[in-house]
Amino acid sequence: MSKPATTSPSAENTQLKDIVAHAKEYGFVFQSSEIYDGLAAVYDYGPNGVELKNNLKRLWWEAMTQLHGNVVGIDAAIFMEPRTWEASGHVAGFNDPLIDNLDSKKRYRADVLIEEKAAEYEKAGDPARGAALTAELGRLLTENDLAGVKQLILDEKITDPLSGSSKWTDVRQFNLMFSTQGSAVDSDAPPVYLRPETAQGIFVNFLNVQKSARMKIPFGIAQIGKAFRNEIVARQFIFRMREFEQMEMQFFVRPGTEGEWYDNWKAARRRFHEAIGLPAEKLRFHDHDKLAHYAKAAVDIEFEFPFGFKEIEGIHSRSDFDLTQHQNLSRKKQQYFDNDLDPATGKPYGNYVPYVVETSVGADRLFLATICQAFQEETITEGEGEAQTTKQRTFLKLHPAVAPIKAAIFPLVRKDGMPEKAQEIFDSLRFDFRLVIEDKDAIGKRYTRQDLIGTPFCIVVDGQTLEDDTVTVRDRDTREQTRMPISALRAYIGEAVSFRRVFEKL
Ligand code: ATP
Repeated sequence: MSKPATTSPSAENTQLKDIVAHAKEYGFVFQSSEIYDGLAAVYDYGPNGVELKNNLKRLWWEAMTQLHGNVVGIDAAIFMEPRTWEASGHVAGFNDPLIDNLDSKKRYRADVLIEEKAAEYEKAGDPARGAALTAELGRLLTENDLAGVKQLILDEKITDPLSGSSKWTDVRQFNLMFSTQGSAVDSDAPPVYLRPETAQGIFVNFLNVQKSARMKIPFGIAQIGKAFRNEIVARQFIFRMREFEQMEMQFFVRPGTEGEWYDNWKAARRRFHEAIGLPAEKLRFHDHDKLAHYAKAAVDIEFEFPFGFKEIEGIHSRSDFDLTQHQNLSRKKQQYFDNDLDPATGKPYGNYVPYVVETSVGADRLFLATICQAFQEETITEGEGEAQTTKQRTFLKLHPAVAPIKAAIFPLVRKDGMPEKAQEIFDSLRFDFRLVIEDKDAIGKRYTRQDLIGTPFCIVVDGQTLEDDTVTVRDRDTREQTRMPISALRAYIGEAVSFRRVFEKL
């Protein structure tokens, strides 16, 4: 008999490198172009990774569009007319301050070097000095005083983390947008950008969607798609990538009601993360201290990764900034006629540019949070007295709704009609679930392999199955086995993996 296992919630004490190694070995995430030594901050999803990521995206998509009668989706192109990015402010302002070290030839974000120094002061028991440094950095950046930022690096005696050298270049602003040649025929044509966010594809389609889908305010437009940022410092695995995927929803509201909707979506988005299995104590809100000039309010939802609390989602009250900018630059009205009656005047609210509340979550960061949370190591004690043994088990405790494979079917032996029976079960369930058949190695090894990729159920076809059409179903988390008729499998697995279980918590 197995005794209850001791489980350590491993994101606290497991190093990111264990998770990175696990993700590679079990087909979740690979470095891009690895055979050529990789491309920095670009990653590929493997056979299990793509299933997990697709499940997360589908959950988000359905939670937005299926669960809300007033949210519809679009799929806009990655390339957009270049003026889009002038209107949005990205051409002028989507910059990070960078600095190069002349000895190591390495490039750094100047603000990050200073923030790390501030964190050092804090760790060394001088939080006031750290806070003063952060405040000074904030002032210099607001004033765009790049010479001042360099001076601060020199005054603080900040050296290259690799070489210890203090031979720094000047600080320069670096635009994070990737650009490419826009026209095959006109070499003077302006470059087109690879979008740095998906939101603008929603804004420029505001009226197309409102009219074609006959939407009434308040309503939302959701989109999942790739975004590209030429991040200077790309670290922490898929946390900061140069090519990544965003899941964004812009919610258009009547001016004056944005505060209410902001609170509403802030709470709804947190519930989503909890419903897919991120524990409440590892999630927190972090209000932005400094707001963008157009923003009325902004908050990040942070998750406690092995490297600390970091943003996974932003919720922003963006006023009418984006639509007004597009209206001005395109000279096309971006207005909505609201024929609801204003109780104050008894007349329709009439024409206005709607306000926007945005929810923006990175699919890759959600993936990373999910896998960090799921990664479990436990010690299992088996047997009694002298015969007692302990062993280590690693498994992914994924919510069954997002697990890449829902069930694995094992014929106990590769003879006596068991493989055929396993195939029969596979065929009867394959329209409903993603399954695998595993017939190699001892059963224990097969369980281990499925634990490592987070498969919630393992179905064993044994001698008794051939007599009475029952199988054992082993639960990944409890390791308990239950015998049930084959005819009960669809309902049993279906209940556990259904999206409904997540949606009911929203
Ligand atoms: P950060 O401060 O970490 O750079 P951000 O505030 O610039 O993030 P937003 O512009 O608000 O991020 O983008 C919304 C979401 O997109 C983020 O919450 C994050 O999940 C995701 N995201 C942004 N940049 C990246 C990136 N380089 N790699 C992976 N995901 C990203």
